[in-house]
Amino acid sequence: MDLTQRQEHIIEIVKENGPITGENIAERLSLTRATLRPDLAILTMAGYLDARPRVGYFYTGKTGSELLTEKLKKFKVQEFQSIPVVVHENVSVYDAICTMFLEDVGTLFVVNDHAKLVGVLSRKDLLRASIGNQDLREIPVHIIMTRMPNVTICYKEDLLLEAGQMLIDKQIDALPVVKNDEDGYEVIGRLTKTNLTKALVELGRDERI
Ligand code: ADP
Repeated sequence: MDLTQRQEHIIEIVKENGPITGENIAERLSLTRATLRPDLAILTMAGYLDARPRVGYFYTGKTGSELLTEKLKKFKVQEFQSIPVVVHENVSVYDAICTMFLEDVGTLFVVNDHAKLVGVLSRKDLLRASIGNQDLREIPVHIIMTRMPNVTICYKEDLLLEAGQMLIDKQIDALPVVKNDEDGYEVIGRLTKTNLTKALVELGRDERI
């Protein structure tokens, strides 16, 4: 995060004099408390300063990269997940390919009659099934999908970093975000490498303080 000159100055004052009240910081800068309020709010939200009621502001001593890591470690799957695209286990490989193009996704989740997760289809699963095969309209996707219990799942409350680690460990592009029902998993989201890229870019651009 790029700090303004005034914000840098505030940090210096708090570093040397903290704990110090907002009133006192304002005095030292010959500004009013009201003028300073947005800067103090930003510095507190960003983690450079901390405030204790009736004590004042003090410097947390955290470096930019420590603060960045702290923020990253708090990200949850639900803040970044996308809408899932599902197909029924009996649709043909041909129809699944069409769905993948129409919906513009790289991974399809496969469900049964009860709308519960039974498998996953990746681009390469569909390509593999297509090579030298003339009857794509005849082959149901449940024949070629990666099936339960081998599907790696995640929950919306999971940490984004943990989900990212699973994508790396399993060498896959997406995880279904699921809700546990008594008769299986309901698919409520999709977490992909693109979602993780977005998280990284948002963090770098400081869109989340
Ligand atoms: P691609 O095959 O297009 O490179 P992936 O790397 O995502 O895409 O998929 C690799 C293999 O892993 C495929 O066979 C796919 O069915 C399977 N796969 C994809 N996502 C998952 C998942 N969440 N859990 C288990 N297997 C998966």
